[in-house]
Amino acid sequence: MLPYQVTWDLHTHLTRQLRGKTPAEKAAHLIEVGSRHGIERFCCYMGVEWNTNPDPENLRKQNDDILEAVEAHPDRMMGFVYLNPKHQAESLDELKRCVRDGPMVGVKLWVSHRCSEPELDPIVELAMEFGVPIFQHTWIKTTGNLPGESTPDDVARLAIRHPEAKLICGHTGGNWEAAIPAIRDFSNISVGIGGFDPTAGVTEMAVRELGAERVLFGSDAPGRAFASQLAKVTGADISASQKALILGENLKRLLEPVMLGKGLTQ
Ligand SMILES: [Zn+2]
Repeated sequence: MLPYQVTWDLHTHLTRQLRGKTPAEKAAHLIEVGSRHGIERFCCYMGVEWNTNPDPENLRKQNDDILEAVEAHPDRMMGFVYLNPKHQAESLDELKRCVRDGPMVGVKLWVSHRCSEPELDPIVELAMEFGVPIFQHTWIKTTGNLPGESTPDDVARLAIRHPEAKLICGHTGGNWEAAIPAIRDFSNISVGIGGFDPTAGVTEMAVRELGAERVLFGSDAPGRAFASQLAKVTGADISASQKALILGENLKRLLEPVMLGKGLTQ
């Protein structure tokens, strides 16, 4: 066990590396392995089978997988609803079904549509009304991004229009040395430091430039090993209290309003 009171993982999935046939069984395996590393809670998104540009029916199927995992393990698993801004009306319906009327506590956006586009606005506004954060995958790819794949600059442009939204810049843009300056001036953007190689210095730079309060631990397990992603924090040259913020206290604070509203215990 890690010597931190709150260790919450921002970023996990139910994909094929996990044992089990059903989402509930796969979640049980994720919990079993994560628990060995001291992780108490797992934010989870997207279905057992992924789709980069899901149609409304596939979106619902993927979110149903997460609902099953959360309902089977309500004190360990926390769902973020996967949305596709290319299907705006149906995405708003999914947000209502899974967050307002269901147990989910956040929004996940992936690579179908750049998040700086105006189609995001109604989704962000409804997420704000429900008090939930939005995790946006970002990357700065040397070989060029997918057509709908957001960069940290896209998240910054979204933050200009929505300075009160709780935005999370996923993967710290992959190329974190370029990403951190791009979002530095927007205090409502946090960075998720999971899902890329555990290069030395990323957490130190994020803390120095953004403040520890804006840095969130996540693993991207099972695609990434818990240990390699935890090491970005535990091995960083920062204080114990800063590590505690990054490993769970920040995420807990971010999710507190929606969790309290749903009567979920922290
Ligand atoms: Zn991921």
